[in-house]
Amino acid sequence: MARKLKGGEVSDSLSKRISQRVEELKKNGIFPTLAIVRLGEKPEDMSYERGAMKRAVQLGITVRQFVFDEKTSQEELLSEIGKLNDDEHIHGVLIFRPLPDHIDDRAVCDALDPQKDVDGITSGSMAGVFMDRDDGFPPCTAEACLELLQHYGYALEGKRIAVIGRSLVIGRPVAMMAMERNATVTICHSRTGDEALADIVGSADIVIAAVGSAGMVSGSILGRDQVIVDVGINVDENGSLCGDVDFKTAEQKAAAITPVPGGVGSVTTAVLMKHVVTAAERSLR
Ligand code: NAP
Repeated sequence: MARKLKGGEVSDSLSKRISQRVEELKKNGIFPTLAIVRLGEKPEDMSYERGAMKRAVQLGITVRQFVFDEKTSQEELLSEIGKLNDDEHIHGVLIFRPLPDHIDDRAVCDALDPQKDVDGITSGSMAGVFMDRDDGFPPCTAEACLELLQHYGYALEGKRIAVIGRSLVIGRPVAMMAMERNATVTICHSRTGDEALADIVGSADIVIAAVGSAGMVSGSILGRDQVIVDVGINVDENGSLCGDVDFKTAEQKAAAITPVPGGVGSVTTAVLMKHVVTAAERSLR
């Protein structure tokens, strides 16, 4: 049976290191602060926000909430982001997306100073991921996948990695970051085709699934003794949370697998806090 790669253990270990860095910053008179920008009251945004606030309090990080009406104009939102960019007491900014339809998502993302872009949404952060530079920050979930593999001792150098999904939030950045760690990466997407997908996934050492389709990666296409990172968060026909990987059939073949819930998702907010602390440290330079 596969080893379960639990995210809680990873975020606890990350949190210990983050707390020490927060203490150091406070000795220097810097109080790491995250601004959360939310339009409207979407339950999923509010649930993530509560989780982030709880984690921040545990770590001694301040959170300031900036909540606006869903009908807020793009001009007004851009002006608020400009104020956050200029506020030296704010080190990181998290903007909940998707934004309402009347707002140009890219214009808003790129209005944010990449140095405060702790969620990796600006073009500057994306360029940083592609060029392996610390201009901004990688998207938290993509980094969470690699934190998890590193924590459990899975080195990436020389490994074949199949990434399923090519979004800017997970698939592409995680592929690029794994390649920077000397893995050989193949990215699959909705046009890959079933046969090629099965070939690529079946012959990988590590599979990272970030699709958003309940149980679409079944044990039948997996190889033996692989390490499986399941990023998907879906709701199954019984209303329970599940991943993109069919856990029951996958765990029979895999060497190790992340559960959903309790896997990658549990590491994401810890990575967000790590980014806030890094942004605060960079402000000292
Ligand atoms: P997304 O933007 O919808 O991207 C999904 C990707 O999957 C796309 O690239 C799509 O290909 C590909 N895809 C769809 N059907 C496929 C198929 N049959 N075979 C191969 N590839 C296929 O989703 P996302 O934002 O990356 O999120 C992916 C999953 O991660 C979702 O379940 C989401 O809820 C979850 N998530 C988890 C966390 C966390 O903290 N754990 C954070 C964010 C998101 P095309 O590009 O060709 O359309």
